Amino acid sequence: MEFKIYSKALYSTWILFHPERLLFDAGESISSILGNSVYAIRDVVLTHGHVDHIAGLWGLINTRNVAMGDRKKPLRIIFPRGNRAIQAYLDFIIGMNPRLRYEIILKPVDPEEEIFLRTAGNFKRWLVPFRVRHTPGEISYGYHIIEERKKLKAEFRSLNSDEIVALVKKHGREYITENFTKKILTVSGDSYALPPEVIEDSETLLHECTFLNGKDRKNQNHSTLEEIVENVCKSKGIKRLILYHISGRYSTRIKKLSKAFVEKLEDRELKIHFVYPEKLFVL
Ligand SMILES: [Zn+2]
Ligand SMILES: [Zn+2]
Repeated sequence: MEFKIYSKALYSTWILFHPERLLFDAGESISSILGNSVYAIRDVVLTHGHVDHIAGLWGLINTRNVAMGDRKKPLRIIFPRGNRAIQAYLDFIIGMNPRLRYEIILKPVDPEEEIFLRTAGNFKRWLVPFRVRHTPGEISYGYHIIEERKKLKAEFRSLNSDEIVALVKKHGREYITENFTKKILTVSGDSYALPPEVIEDSETLLHECTFLNGKDRKNQNHSTLEEIVENVCKSKGIKRLILYHISGRYSTRIKKLSKAFVEKLEDRELKIHFVYPEKLFVL
């Protein structure tokens, strides 16, 4: 399992990215749905302070204190620095829970800051926030997960495997490889459609898609499917598109309303998934 997502615009959104044990946003229902699996979460990463994205955090913090599991694991909460709603809510939660059995690490972050996640095997991953356009006055971020990988240096690519083994024996592995970085995941948060230069080369793009129909949007604070598809068409390298934060008004008509837009992406090697409002999405 890579993703577990619950998302319905205006009501609740949370995205569990299992490989990094990372939860993007914490809308209500998170702890009742995850139960004892709340311990699978190491980092909570908040995009902004609207209630549909943070209301479940208090429950999550409490559940983690009483559920069956390793209560000693610390929980890190990463959020946009200067977001007053989030700060006030965190102050309240911490004030109400003075005797937690585990440590909460509060980490306010700035755009473009690199937040280390982990090193495993031959890769290293970190999180990078970026500013998005949402409600005026609300500091809102999207996030990339960046991975550093190793590849064979260009001058050695024509060698056969015996020659490579000989080189490694003589000079060590570092000698024949070089590092490169890859955006493995981009999460939009609540935002107007992300521009092509932001989503370019992201292997998996999780994009909010509040409106399937442009006519329904009153303010330019959220995305429409048409704009997302337009920007994805201008960007190379995206392999998967997961659309979430869909308005409940479309529940039964998502396939029908999205057909014309999805067809524009048919000739690309891209998999599209819709997170249906009110349904738990697992991938
Ligand atoms: Zn929202
Ligand atoms: Zn919002």
